[in-house]
Amino acid sequence: MSIALYIHVPFCIKKCLYCDFTSYPLEGGAVKNYLASLIKEINLYGTSLAEEDKIITSIFFGGGTPTTLPVASFEMVLAAVRSSFLLTPGCEVTVEANPGTINGAELTGLRELGVNRLSIGVQSFQDRLLQVLGRTHSGDQAVEAMQLARKAGFDNLNLDFIFGIPGQTNYDWQETLQQAVEIAPEHIAAYGLQLEEGTPLEQAVLHGATCPCPEETEADMYQDAIAFLTARGYNHYEISNFAQPGRECAHNLIYWLNQPYLGLGPAAHSLIKGVRSANDISLDGYCDHLSRKEYPIEHSTCLTPADEMSETMFLGLRLTDGVDLNQFYQRFGRRVEDVYGSAIVDLRGKGLLEISRGRLHLTAKGLPLANVVFREFI
Ligand code: SF4
Repeated sequence: MSIALYIHVPFCIKKCLYCDFTSYPLEGGAVKNYLASLIKEINLYGTSLAEEDKIITSIFFGGGTPTTLPVASFEMVLAAVRSSFLLTPGCEVTVEANPGTINGAELTGLRELGVNRLSIGVQSFQDRLLQVLGRTHSGDQAVEAMQLARKAGFDNLNLDFIFGIPGQTNYDWQETLQQAVEIAPEHIAAYGLQLEEGTPLEQAVLHGATCPCPEETEADMYQDAIAFLTARGYNHYEISNFAQPGRECAHNLIYWLNQPYLGLGPAAHSLIKGVRSANDISLDGYCDHLSRKEYPIEHSTCLTPADEMSETMFLGLRLTDGVDLNQFYQRFGRRVEDVYGSAIVDLRGKGLLEISRGRLHLTAKGLPLANVVFREFI
């Protein structure tokens, strides 16, 4: 069984105002402890997993801001991964990067280490909107990051964007999309802003200090992104993701197809042999477990067949191609229609789901209402 490998790098230069991811200030001692613990965790799995479970088809360094680490740290981590796991030929190796945290020499260094995909957190090209989000970079720095990546030899780039930012107009969003396609990245991710509980941005909106983007405007921005990007040759293959043909993110496809993955680092999640687990969210807790040669797992759940079928449905329906009905039967020995018959009849009746070419998928009407659909499969 091949798996995808996720490595969480929990450091950021400064916390963005909308962010509730696990990240810590960049501080030398903490980084050193983290790296030493991460290597121990890699070795722990290297000695305990069966050989067939150590075949890696993709590696994704996410964060946090992985590019706060120097190239030498990636070299050390990738060397440990290569000595404990078997990387398949063409293994996709992605590093998330933020503009302002990368330079040409570092990007060349990452490329030489075998990193073949870069995911840049642009979010917006308008500086005033980047300030609302509390980002540490400018729009010009994002363009420069992309140019540096191309010069370093990256031919597989993703740009992340956010729409529905307080103060963002439809015109701003169109301008950002236009600027994005002029740069011609292979992949674009466009997410509606989530006002996560307890974040400074959510508090500012709650207390009236910031006006949220109206829901109708945000809904229009989503539809504009679909129309604009698909008209320019991007395949809208997942609710929030667009790719040039053949450039879909192999790593994220593993999640959406509910296939196995191993997550390393604080707060990372894994799904191996029907067991879902989550690592200790705190950096100290994570390091403490590994100093005692223990797995840094905070909690784990053995999934029942019903859980696995449910997850396969609501993750697979995120893909615009939807769930392959035959593959579902091969995997679970049950027909989708027999397990979820009444929900499917209801959602097809409402025009939110349809079946075509042996696949159950969201309709154009169902895409913006995906969460309403997913609830029926949980
Ligand atoms: S860079 Fe990313 S992980 Fe870090 S604070 Fe900002 S949104 Fe969160």
